[in-house]
Amino acid sequence: MKYLFTGLALLSCSLVAQADAEKLVIAHRGASGYLPEHTLPAKAMAYAQGADFLEQDVVMTRDDQLIVLHDHYLDRVTDVAQQFPQRHRQDGRYYAIDFTLAEIKQLHFTEGFHLEGKQQVQNYPGRFPMNHSTFSIHTLAEELAFIQGLNHSTGKNIGIYTEIKSPWFHRKEGKDISKAILTTLKEYGYTKTTDNVWLQCFDYDELQRIKQTLEPQLGMDLKRVQLIAYTQDKETQTLQNGEWRNYDYGWMMTPEGIDKLSKTVDGIGPDYHMLIDKGSSRGHIQLTPMVAAAHRANLPIHPYTVRADQLPSYVSNVDELYQILYQQADVAGLFTDFPDKAVTWLANHPLSH
Ligand code: CA
Repeated sequence: MKYLFTGLALLSCSLVAQADAEKLVIAHRGASGYLPEHTLPAKAMAYAQGADFLEQDVVMTRDDQLIVLHDHYLDRVTDVAQQFPQRHRQDGRYYAIDFTLAEIKQLHFTEGFHLEGKQQVQNYPGRFPMNHSTFSIHTLAEELAFIQGLNHSTGKNIGIYTEIKSPWFHRKEGKDISKAILTTLKEYGYTKTTDNVWLQCFDYDELQRIKQTLEPQLGMDLKRVQLIAYTQDKETQTLQNGEWRNYDYGWMMTPEGIDKLSKTVDGIGPDYHMLIDKGSSRGHIQLTPMVAAAHRANLPIHPYTVRADQLPSYVSNVDELYQILYQQADVAGLFTDFPDKAVTWLANHPLSH
């Protein structure tokens, strides 16, 4: 009897824990509000802060290595322009795909900046100072080994949330980045929907190719998230009648589009602004039809990106934004540059289902 009671107590505890655990904190590029994005220190910090998932953006090098980097350019976050001044393309940008891994490993990584004339200006002034201390770019395999090492030493099982960046761009350059990423994930033991991994991409057609062709070939079946962009941001290109055109995301913004997505992907990752009606003001938040449509279709919503240092006008602090998204919109998880603040908010607001 005592054993049974203990068992019941454990069971009810685990159910409560599970209800909380349903709300995910996804560390956007690591704890990027505190340390340069995607560096291993930023991942370690997010891990220690209690994030449920750590994000990897992945692009490919000239010698077909997978590196963890957000842009397919190197110039926003490294000293590539100083070390390799001749190696930009006609548009002035330095493309990761034009450099070998050995060259990329020589670069000094920094908090992101843009140029005003020749002057480097830090994009988020309150964050880790640019050109400060020492950081470098690592491979996807190195990051997976790092996270799995932490999972071993802490006894936790923190997940990975891997984004295939611009498969259309890599295809133009003659590379199949999706196949390479899936192969690496498989090598590290991520193969099934029940494994602690989400695979994300802005490219709908590529996600379907992954589901219908690549994963069956590799004996894999991962949870897939359709990221949703504003069409005008020109995130994705698609080949139509032999011509590369800007992909139109319009259909994903409709209830019918959400229904279609619910049958073809396991979750959606919209910009959180797509969930909040434009007429919203402080204390008067209206959600867009996308939210109800996703809930009707049982499609988890993982919006991006909550930043404590870049708030919309209808909130006065980041906690209000967490409340709107986690509670009012009832999203299943969200991407944030400040995982500690999301973890704290969730701990202080146990949400019932
Ligand atoms: Ca990303």
